[in-house]
Amino acid sequence: MAIQAGRIRILKEAEPRAAGRYVLYLLQQANRAHGNPALELAIEEANRLGLPVLAGFGLLDGKNGFPEANARHYAFLLQGLADAASGLEARGIGFCLRKASPARVAIDLARDAALLVLDRGYLAIQKRWYDEIVAAVDTRIVQVEGDVVVPVEVTSPKHEYAARTLRPKLHKHLDDYVAPLTARRVKHPAGRGLPTSEVDIADPAKVLAGMSLDRAVGPVRRFTGGETEARRRLKAYLAGPFADYGSDRNRPEAGAASHMSPYLHFGQISPVEIVLAVRAAKAGGAEDKASYVEEVVIRRELAMNHVHYTDGYDRYERAVPEWARKVLAEHADDARPKTYTETELAEGRTHDVYWNAAQAEMRETGYMHNHLRMYWGKKILEWSPTPEEGFARTLRLNNRYFLDGRDPNSFTNVAWVYGLHDRPWARRKIFGTVRYQSENSLRKFDAKAYLRTVEDLCRAEAGDKA
Ligand SMILES: Cc1cc2nc3c(=O)[nH]c(=O)nc-3n(C[C@H](O)[C@H](O)[C@H](O)COP(=O)(O)OP(=O)(O)OC[C@H]3O[C@@H](n4cnc5c(N)ncnc54)[C@H](O)[C@@H]3O)c2cc1C
Repeated sequence: MAIQAGRIRILKEAEPRAAGRYVLYLLQQANRAHGNPALELAIEEANRLGLPVLAGFGLLDGKNGFPEANARHYAFLLQGLADAASGLEARGIGFCLRKASPARVAIDLARDAALLVLDRGYLAIQKRWYDEIVAAVDTRIVQVEGDVVVPVEVTSPKHEYAARTLRPKLHKHLDDYVAPLTARRVKHPAGRGLPTSEVDIADPAKVLAGMSLDRAVGPVRRFTGGETEARRRLKAYLAGPFADYGSDRNRPEAGAASHMSPYLHFGQISPVEIVLAVRAAKAGGAEDKASYVEEVVIRRELAMNHVHYTDGYDRYERAVPEWARKVLAEHADDARPKTYTETELAEGRTHDVYWNAAQAEMRETGYMHNHLRMYWGKKILEWSPTPEEGFARTLRLNNRYFLDGRDPNSFTNVAWVYGLHDRPWARRKIFGTVRYQSENSLRKFDAKAYLRTVEDLCRAEAGDKA
């Protein structure tokens, strides 16, 4: 099946360089060897030109590390890269990891490339890399979107107001974009003489040990990175827990969530592959399938839309809509029954045992269920001295501890706590007309069972590390 034209953007119109020794693919967002349209396009081009494909990766380290990334994030990323590199090798594709910025790696390796293929992300730092690459590389550059179902600009040319405005626009394109991607056969396997990696990625723990980074937040045992693990989890999920997604997706203790978010964040699985598998699943009825597609396509791509069309999506004054900032300011002086410092929050030392448990799950295991993330975020707003401070701390905690943090979904959902993509509700203290979430939301599931689950999860993390 051809790659949909809407996924492909020509960033530099030029003939492929005749003296090029390979087609370079900067594998930076879609960290996988299968189900990756950018990689398949690179293979098509290389086959046509009679060349091998070289996949490059720039690993940011030390002072120049990826913003807010720590040992937890890097461990998962490196496990995923080890898996991708072995998948690439099995397909006859070269892999070259260098400890430098992705833009630097692309610019250096592109000197010997016939053409350069990029995949695509929407964060400001990624957009800066693309600008640097386009300014410095003089051969043809093609960018291929593989980490959303429908490319953001195809869905909408502007910032969308809410899920209800995005939904019909996105649904119009679903049939065109939810299609299987066949693996192209590599006609000219990478041999000797191509640039090779600076580190042995087959040993990700050793690479991690050699990096200069924030180790205060350590790797977790609950999640292992990589596309193989992502597919194994998806298969097990769809064969069982998914059957209750429609009815139980808001019950954190029920185990009906898929835990796909870390894998999606690191590009270790394609959302199209997930949707195809969900549609084909034997377990689960129409309601479960529709519910899941609503989350993984509509809600997730609403986040991409927000980040793509909002300069300063990480800042309160840019990310939070004006009506919400206005009412929150009107209530900024309301007495807060409780306030906590960021350290007390991080350590889970509040009066609310359920909130503390959610914080422990996040801090110790890198994950939290969506229903609790909403409660967690709304309580930080309530317990912070000002809404601006609440927003900043929520984002810091979110991005520090979650494996899926630092994602468009992170910035968008933290802003949702403060009114983004929502409407005004009844007025009350502190929140004004921004949606409030009370302790009653804990009654909608078996909160005591959730406490036990978190204890078990934390014990497993501690035990494994002892
Ligand atoms: C305050 C707050 C902070 C959040 N921070 C993040 C974050 O840092 N990174 C992140 O990926 N998600 C974040 N979310 C969204 C959501 O909670 C997670 O994506 C979801 O819980 C991940 O678990 P799962 O894969 O088991 O979800 P499932 O329920 O199995 O859903 C499947 C997929 O759908 C998508 N999805 C589910 N719920 C949402 C949602 N509300 N918005 C957008 N996409 C969704 C995710 O890609 C998810 O992997 C946040 C939500 C809130 C309220």
